[in-house]
Amino acid sequence: SIPLGFFGGIGSASKKGILIKGGNYLEALNELDTVVFDKTGTLTEGVFDVQTVVPATGWTEEELLEAAAVVEYNSNHPIAQSILEAYQGPAIEQKTISDYQEIAGKGLSARSDEQEILAGNHKLMEANGINYQAADEVGTIIYIAVDGNYAGYIAIDDKIKSDSKSALQNLKDLGIERVVMLTGDNEQVAQRVAEELGVDNYYAGLLPDEKVDKMEEILEENQDGKSAFVGDGINDAPVLARSDIGVAMGGLGSDAAIEAADIVLMKDKPSNLTEAVKVAHFTRKIVW
Ligand code: ADP
Ligand code: MG
Repeated sequence: SIPLGFFGGIGSASKKGILIKGGNYLEALNELDTVVFDKTGTLTEGVFDVQTVVPATGWTEEELLEAAAVVEYNSNHPIAQSILEAYQGPAIEQKTISDYQEIAGKGLSARSDEQEILAGNHKLMEANGINYQAADEVGTIIYIAVDGNYAGYIAIDDKIKSDSKSALQNLKDLGIERVVMLTGDNEQVAQRVAEELGVDNYYAGLLPDEKVDKMEEILEENQDGKSAFVGDGINDAPVLARSDIGVAMGGLGSDAAIEAADIVLMKDKPSNLTEAVKVAHFTRKIVW
């Protein structure tokens, strides 16, 4: 049977927009010592600003943005939203786009007007043998190729959420020993975000499967305490399901992530996790 105090704890958490799917997770929060965050949409806004558009020789900015917008048209990744916002050219019509494909952790491909367009990171370029030029700036870099030829890149910047830094500090104050960040984004962006937030450890350039592997390693190494994963994406569902405590961002989060999670933060704020830990500590005092 579940002690009555847990119902009180779950109730007071839900008033703060924190949905806890059972008293056992409140109990687990009391043993939490490792928190693993996904970067994009979790520690960062996941709403990007296009910073620079750098066409390759023979391409104009407009042509590059149009090719990018065509391939991003059917994606609901935040990267796609920002590229489509930056694109000012003629309306893109669904009927001209075919063979749209998402390549997990790498990017997208699609065909339009007999052309094959690729948009994604350096791994996507390398996987397709594209002779691209590595961008020399910090940001999430989306390389574009058309019919096997490099067309240029778009650099975008994802802002850190205003409460991420204080949330991580407060978690430390509440006795959390390790804060780790996982991301599919590149090393430079990951390093900048990790330094700014003061995470203990980060792993960049991870494919969705590699995030699961990394989380399993962390769980394996931490037999004494509980390890939580906090994420928002469709790709995060397997990691959420496997961690001791899976925490999903409820507003931005995909249905699959919310379904797989043990705790849902309706306000999409890392500081809500701090609140959940506080509720757990308080509830323990009442129950025992
Ligand atoms: P994170 O692990 O930070 O949440 P994702 O797994 O969503 O990031 O994406 C990993 C990487 O895959 C991105 O940084 C980007 O390089 C590439 N990517 C994902 N979606 C797209 C897209 N719609 N267009 C271009 N590139 C994309
Ligand atoms: Mg993500």
